[in-house]
Amino acid sequence: MKKVVFNDKLCKGCGLCVAACPKKILAISERVNAMGYAVAECVNERECISCAFCATMCPDTVITVRKEVSETK
Ligand code: SF4
Ligand code: SF4
Repeated sequence: MKKVVFNDKLCKGCGLCVAACPKKILAISERVNAMGYAVAECVNERECISCAFCATMCPDTVITVRKEVSETK
């Protein structure tokens, strides 16, 4: 399951999340949303530490960060 989920429709490509990520795994992609903004994406989910700095920084609440959920039981 994805840890970092972007609501592409709302992203303005401002790059604040990219700057905030301590693991440097966020980037502005080449995908453009309906508003004409290049949207942010996570390029290496495995490195994500679920700190949610990206979600906190985003002015448009685009990002949801899920904690890693144990698959046992
Ligand atoms: S939760 Fe933390 S490590 Fe993961 S993408 Fe966001 S800022 Fe980076
Ligand atoms: S901070 Fe939010 S609006 Fe800005 S690029 Fe990241 S996801 Fe998009």
